[in-house]
Amino acid sequence: AVTPAGEILAEWREATRGESNEELSSQLQEVLSRLMEMSTVRPEEVAGVGVAIPGRVDAQANKAIGCSNLGFRNLDVNEVVKAITPAPVALANDGNAGALGEKWFGAGKGIDNFCYICVGTGVGGGLVLDGRLYMGETGRAGEVGHVVVDPRGPRCRCGTVGCLEAMVSGVGLPILAERLLGEAEVRKLGRGAQEGDGGGRLPTAQEIYRAAAAGNAAAQRVIEEAGLLHAATVVSLLRILDLRRIIYGGGITAAGALFIQAVYQGLKELGYRITQPDIVLSPLGEKAGVWGAAAVIGERLQSMKA
Ligand SMILES: [Zn+2]
Repeated sequence: AVTPAGEILAEWREATRGESNEELSSQLQEVLSRLMEMSTVRPEEVAGVGVAIPGRVDAQANKAIGCSNLGFRNLDVNEVVKAITPAPVALANDGNAGALGEKWFGAGKGIDNFCYICVGTGVGGGLVLDGRLYMGETGRAGEVGHVVVDPRGPRCRCGTVGCLEAMVSGVGLPILAERLLGEAEVRKLGRGAQEGDGGGRLPTAQEIYRAAAAGNAAAQRVIEEAGLLHAATVVSLLRILDLRRIIYGGGITAAGALFIQAVYQGLKELGYRITQPDIVLSPLGEKAGVWGAAAVIGERLQSMKA
């Protein structure tokens, strides 16, 4: 719950309990009621409700169409919210919500042309062009995670081969590490191996970044390769869209300077020197979801006024 001035009144975090339409609806309604209670706001006092979800959405109709990781289908978010408050509703996928969060509250403030790239379990993103969120012909624009960076790479969960997400995300980075180092080497970076139980499972993306930060040369090689793949994506974005800034967010970028340095190193390796690229980390951290949802409804209310 956020005021129009950008002050957080209340926040609540919980895992999804189920993924059917019914389960998600009742959980959303519960959380909405709880947030209103926590911030002592009555249903008729709510200015608007912003909802950000993973997967495909129909932003015009406020319908959550579906998501490859969750089982809901054609969830009518207007109906879900109407049971709790008569306030207007706006829906966006998490990548676009993240981009709007940056535009309103983060590193995109006052910047008309930028791309937000969220590197977590998957890779999502959103584009702000000429000061507005760019949705594209079918609302699928900004899917930076599914840009092909290696036509000989592993198959992505979207069905395409060599997507950025399949190689640098929380799920993809361990696969990239295995391709690069071989299974025996990569298992040495896993927790089991470090605890000396001899086994060693595949390391998580966080463990790979941590090992690289601690000076492990094999892990550093993986991070450099990931930086190169990010850089290839950044060059394409800058070439096609002439952006002012690239903003990275998401759990994997908690590696901070190590993450950004690898991207800059990748740009150098690619020989990109048209403009000085402006690549930054999101300042919103783990509250990016709160700010994103607030920005989604803020943007909608603003366009209703205009
Ligand atoms: Zn893909």
